[in-house]
Amino acid sequence: MPKQNTSISKHVANLIKYAKENLNLNYYDAIYAQNSLLALLKISEPADADAKLPDFQTGIVDKIVDYAVDNGIADPKAKLLFETKVLGLVTPCPSLVMQEFDRRVRINGVEDATNYLNDLSVKNNYIRMPDIQKNIKWTANCPGGDLTITINLSKPEKSNEQVALERSLPQTNYPKCMLCLENLGFEGTYRHPARETIRIIPMFLNDEPWFMQFSPYVYFDNHCIAISQNHQPMAITPLTFRRLMDFTELFPHYFLGSNADLPIVGGSILAHEHYQGGKKVLPMFTRPIRKSFASDEYPSVNIGILDWYNSVIKLSGRVKEDIQAVAEKILAAWRRYSDVSVGVIAETDAPHNTITPIATMEDDTYSLYLILRNNRTDESHPYGIYHPTEDMHNIKKEGIGLIEAMGTFILPGRLASEITKVVEILSGAHSLNFAELSDESNPLCKHLGMIAQLVNDHGVTNTPEDAEKAVIDYINNTCVRILECTAVFKNTEIGQQAFEKFLNSLEIKA
Ligand SMILES: [Zn+2]
Repeated sequence: MPKQNTSISKHVANLIKYAKENLNLNYYDAIYAQNSLLALLKISEPADADAKLPDFQTGIVDKIVDYAVDNGIADPKAKLLFETKVLGLVTPCPSLVMQEFDRRVRINGVEDATNYLNDLSVKNNYIRMPDIQKNIKWTANCPGGDLTITINLSKPEKSNEQVALERSLPQTNYPKCMLCLENLGFEGTYRHPARETIRIIPMFLNDEPWFMQFSPYVYFDNHCIAISQNHQPMAITPLTFRRLMDFTELFPHYFLGSNADLPIVGGSILAHEHYQGGKKVLPMFTRPIRKSFASDEYPSVNIGILDWYNSVIKLSGRVKEDIQAVAEKILAAWRRYSDVSVGVIAETDAPHNTITPIATMEDDTYSLYLILRNNRTDESHPYGIYHPTEDMHNIKKEGIGLIEAMGTFILPGRLASEITKVVEILSGAHSLNFAELSDESNPLCKHLGMIAQLVNDHGVTNTPEDAEKAVIDYINNTCVRILECTAVFKNTEIGQQAFEKFLNSLEIKA
């Protein structure tokens, strides 16, 4: 036996004690889990836990992983996979978590139940809060509605070594994707995250089997995902509205929205039907109605154009079926609606019109937000006509999905160090050299347009504080312009008239 046997036995005992105190690990399951850990780490007997537990990450988890690496038990290139395996062993099994969730729903209500699952997910490192807290986050106060902006530093960009490892792995077809139910307990590979610590809550939406889980990336408070138990492609249909609204009845303290079902305007995973939800903290929810409308056919439904950067119809009322009926009518009409005078064309070689729908519930009033989307491209807009133009790609190039369309921007981590360098230029700490900046290997090269604009407006003799403010203002402004790009009916007199013309074509009148 290696010499460090005593201390590793203590780390294991400490982890078991932690799990009993923080993860609700049952007395008998704790003995079972301890034996599983002894077997995994090839040690013969446990020790006593410390009276006062050391720090969970550095004093317990890291110690166990390091021991495993040092003794050839864990792959040094896959420490996180091993850590997740260890923490999966001390997390109550999926069915027990479901039972505890249900028990809390019955006794204290659903909010207590989701708090329990969220807390468990943080304490077993499924959600790595210390990483999430590295994110840089601020609110952009803008006249058309505030935005929240996050520079995502919790998801480190892949190293070349990592990319090479991923490539070296043979392609497998299991699990079919990152969202499939079969991820529950999956060991993970160099290219697919380990999921021994994930716990899910099954539910029925529109009488179909779905499940809910938290997102490990926490783009906003209690960020969760509702996922179909079937690996089926994203499709915005009348069923989508029913599922979203069913979810808000089960979880009235959360919203749930679906990404659109077309590339450019949709999310990154179109192959598996899933929706995103969480606390109603996204900026769009704070916005008032710009103009109200009504339908003679469905008088119970309040219909309005939302005062927001892109084209949102808000439906609300107490009769769920009426809201769904109006939404179905709008979806069917929008799919084939063209208005060449404002550049909206429903179909060329492929269909272009779709909707990003989001549901909420407050007291006994349902709301359904329908963001009208179009993914057409043309010669002068190869990335999309309703997509950020190329001069904004230094800030955001990817598709604008539902989270951003609602005003919560998630920007790439590389921006943090790049902003620092731009601030140095504007405050004279780093000399301005356009030849150097134009070199494509320079990470600031993509920001050349922004730097030229900022230097023109502010010069290069600013205090570091003023320089930083100038850069942040520029980013805030860009995010507003990105949202404006996604508007199919622009916030101009002509654009809004065209928006009303579309509603009027459905017998929806002001
Ligand atoms: Zn799948």
